[in-house]
Order: sequence, then structure tokens, then C-alpha cells
Amino acid sequence: MLDLPSPLPCPPNEPVLTYAPGSPERGALKAELARLSGDCPDIPHVIGGEAVHEGAPFDVRSPHAHHKVIGRARHGGHAMAERAISAAKKAAPEWAAMPLLARARIFQRAADLLAGPFRQRLNAATMLGQSKTAFQAEIDAACELVDFLRFNAYFATRLVEQPISPPGIVNQVELRPLEGFVLAVTPFNFTAIAGNLPASCALMGNVVVWKPAETQALAAHHTVALFEAAGLPKGVINVVHGEGASVGAACLASPDLAGIHFTGSTRVFQSLLRGVGERIASYRSYPRVVGETGGKDFVFAHPSADVEALAVALVRGAFEFSGQKCSAASRAYVPKSLWPKLEKLLASHVAELRVGPVDDFRTFMGAVIDERAYARLAGWRDRLKADASCTLVAEGPWSNAEGYFAGPTIFKVGDPKHALFQEELFGPILGIYVYDDADVEAALTLVDETSPYALTGAIFSEDRAFVSHAAHRLRQAAGNFYVNDKPTGAVVGQQPFCGARGSGTNDKAGSAFNLLRWASPRTVKETFVPPREVLYPSMREA
Ligand code: NAD
Repeated sequence: MLDLPSPLPCPPNEPVLTYAPGSPERGALKAELARLSGDCPDIPHVIGGEAVHEGAPFDVRSPHAHHKVIGRARHGGHAMAERAISAAKKAAPEWAAMPLLARARIFQRAADLLAGPFRQRLNAATMLGQSKTAFQAEIDAACELVDFLRFNAYFATRLVEQPISPPGIVNQVELRPLEGFVLAVTPFNFTAIAGNLPASCALMGNVVVWKPAETQALAAHHTVALFEAAGLPKGVINVVHGEGASVGAACLASPDLAGIHFTGSTRVFQSLLRGVGERIASYRSYPRVVGETGGKDFVFAHPSADVEALAVALVRGAFEFSGQKCSAASRAYVPKSLWPKLEKLLASHVAELRVGPVDDFRTFMGAVIDERAYARLAGWRDRLKADASCTLVAEGPWSNAEGYFAGPTIFKVGDPKHALFQEELFGPILGIYVYDDADVEAALTLVDETSPYALTGAIFSEDRAFVSHAAHRLRQAAGNFYVNDKPTGAVVGQQPFCGARGSGTNDKAGSAFNLLRWASPRTVKETFVPPREVLYPSMREA
């Protein structure tokens, strides 16, 4: 009678392929890059399973070769969002009636397709559209999305511990989908997040309106093809491309808005949350709002730190994918005693980093996502160079002639409350504050109190007593806390990811915490032999 799934076994993480010279995956990826480079799809909205080519067109370009158009999508706006909501509502009854295990099989199949025949398609689209290197694309578009799909199916079957049932009574709890539709709004920087936000809600039985980032439209288009190939019924995930505000406004205006699954900037998330608050009396249910937003992620080095490990973590943590990770290391706190050695190591590592087109597999950093991001970051670099409290430590090449190449850049900053330690730049600019070795406690306070964000953070120390002290002192400073490791690279099933304070609602993507937000539990009590008297025994005599 109720949908009470038997638990699925825990899957392994999808192995990360190396793309080393001579490997079969390298050849396959290059062939797919060549194929997709020659293609320029007209990317449709997907409404009730149908491709819809309506709305003002916009070009999707390769950030590392901005003359190159790799797809054309269209702004769906308010009207397309309303059509998506109608299609979602139409699909809802049948989808909600499908047992969880049957829905899970669709996403497990999508995972296997992505691990196999779709792997290089999604990787190549992510490289071309988002300028990820082969390795960064592999860990995002292939492995992380496979892991999200498999682990969510596993977690979803284990969310409910059934209540106790005394003799004569059966108590059960089942998970229903939310009533209405969920709006999934996704960022440009992770193909895995873009796929996971609508898929996790759909897995739980919800119907979805998905608004991908304009600059991620190509990989989103191939992700839709993946879900279709896995057998996702029409209308369960409806896709509206283009500018976000009008799609957001249409969804906020619907009384059937049951939830928002958002990843992106703090500013946009706050505007959506405000929109829900302003209309709160108009909704059939209180919308569930999950938002994972910005970061100003720290690396703190104790005087006992291993400087070589610290230098590698800083360079990888700050500059992989050009610092366009919400978890990217962007502020570091280093004791004076370690600074001379660290400074030399950072300069020599940065000099090694190749910045350029990602189809050259030697590239460490591709381009930043678009012209606006490049101009914003170049503006920061120029202001920091002109700022007397900042000293340039290292700088890689910057150029926007062919692509939007922002080089790896490090500043040592004298003022620990400088804007560089507070604001998210979302690019390859790292600020370092050098503190006196005697001031470790004051430096920990700076880590905790300088920025409004609390997403990721790392400490480096060989002193176990300090590790446990700092883990306690910085307990609220990061939702994902690392010891002697870089603050990026969370793996689904291993380090459930998200942060609090200004960084979001901390609902931990790819975990049971997140999935529960997309379910509405129902408790069912059945009594085998119901009572036949109204009065209780105590009422029988005076
Ligand atoms: P963004 O906020 O600019 O855009 C995110 C999405 O919101 C896009 O699809 C965009 O079109 C849409 N949007 C914009 N305005 C809207 C509106 N008014 N209503 C509805 N939708 C609207 O973010 P971005 O530049 O794509 O991504 C980078 C940001 O995402 C960074 O701040 C980064 O830290 C954050 N991020 C956070 C996490 C995390 O897990 N915490 C992960 C990835 C990215």
C-alpha cells in the first residue's frame, strides 16, 4: 500500500580516468572534442518532453576561444517558464505514483550511461563550454555527476527509519513528493551540480522546472539528452534556458511553487528567498528553499605546518578551474617563520602553470567564463596592484585577445580586514596575510570573523593538539573543514558538501540531508481491533 523501498547497496565512487598520453580515454575525448567543436546545436527548451525553439536567441561561446560559437540557445522568459510549470504539473500525478525504486532505476541507468557512452560527450561539452581542462571535466561532468546519481538513489532508499509499532497497531512513515513543482536554478561552474539539482528533486518524486546558467547551456543540453536516454518520463524535468530573473519571477508567482533548489551567487539566492517571503501567503505549501552560494574559503597555516604540502594545496586550491569553484582557496593566513620559504615555492609553482586553451592537454588553467568575469577580475588585479597595502607575490599571464585568460595571481596583503579577505572574487586571485608566530589565536579570530561566508576552510599543522584546538575554534567558520589538505575537491559519498552563514542553507548536496528537503513524510497508523467504547476505564466509577 505504501511506498517503502528496500535499501539499495552502497555504490563505489566512479573511478577518475587519468587522460595520460597514450590512454584510450585521451583519444576518445579528443575525438569527441573535435566532433562537438564542429557542431553548433540549436539548443531548445524542453517542455513536457518536447523541444521548443522559441525566444530571442543568444550565442554560447567557448571562453578560451571567444570568437567560436558552440551552440545557440534562446531566452525562455516568463512565458516559457509558465509553460514549463504547466507541463510539470501535468506529469506530476503519474510520476509521484511511481515507486521510489522504479524512479531510482532511471537515475542509476543515467549514471551507467554517463560512466559509459555519454562520458566523453559530457566531458567535451564541459571543456568547450566552461573551459575546464580534461582532468577538471572528468572529475566534474563524469565522476561527480555519476556519483550524485548513484549515491542519491542509495541514500533515498535509507531515509526513513520506521517507527515502533506496539501489538495491535502498525505505524508506518512514507515519503511523499512535495505538492507542486520545484524550481532548480543552477550555476555555470559545475556540470555535476547542474545535473544534480533537478535530478535529486525528481528522484524524490517531484516535478521540476530547471533553469541552467546561460554559459552552461551546452553541457546542460547534453545532460538533458542523458536523462532522456535513461528513460525519464516527459514533463518530469522541464528546461527553460536564458536569463534568470524572468523565469524566477514566473515561478515565484505560482501558488504551486513547492521548493527552490538553488546553487549560485549569494545575491541571487537572497533575491529568491526575499521573493518567497514577500509572497508567503500565496503558496499552497511553504516552499522548501535550499541554496548553496558563495565562499571566501581560507587556508590557515600553523607554524608547525609542512610548507611544501601547504604550497601545493594553495596553488591547486586557488587556481584549479581558474579559482571558479565556490570552495576555492582565496585567503590564506601564514606565520612569519614560514613565509620566506612559502613565498619562493609559490612563485616557482605559479611559474609552472600553463594558462591557455583546454584542448592543449598540458594546460593547467583555461579561461574564465565570460567577458564580464574577465573585466571584473582584471579590475580587481589593477586596483590591488595600485593599493599600497598589497604586494604582488606572483602573477601568471593575463590576456583577453583570444580567450578570457586570467592568470594565477597572488598578493600579500598588510591589512587583514582588506576587501580581498572578505568578498568573493570567483577567480584566480589569492590574498595572503602573514601573521606573527606569537599571534596564532588572533589570526584564528581573523579567519572566523573577517568574511560573511562559511563554506570551506583548511588548516595545515603537524601539531595534533593544535589541530583539535583549531577544529573547535573554527567550528562555525566552514561547512567543509580540511586538515592538511586543500579546501576543494569534495567527493560525493565521502565529504558531503555545503556551508552555512552567507554560504547557504548547508543542506549537503549528495546526501540524505539534502534529499529529505524534497520529501514530505506521511505517517500512517493502522489499528487492527479498534475500541468500541467511548469512556475510559478511569471514568467507570466516581
Ligand atoms: P549566478 O548567481 O550569477 O547564477 C546562478 C543561476 O541563477 C544562473 O542560472 C542564473 O541565470 C540564475 N539567475 C540569475 N539571476 C536570477 C534571478 N533574479 N532569478 C532567478 N535566477 C537567476 O551564479 P554563477 O555565476 O552561475 O555561479 C557562481 C556562483 O555560484 C558563485 O558565487 C559560487 O560561489 C556559487 N556556487 C556555490 C556552490 C556551493 O555549493 N556553495 C557551488 C557552485 C557555485
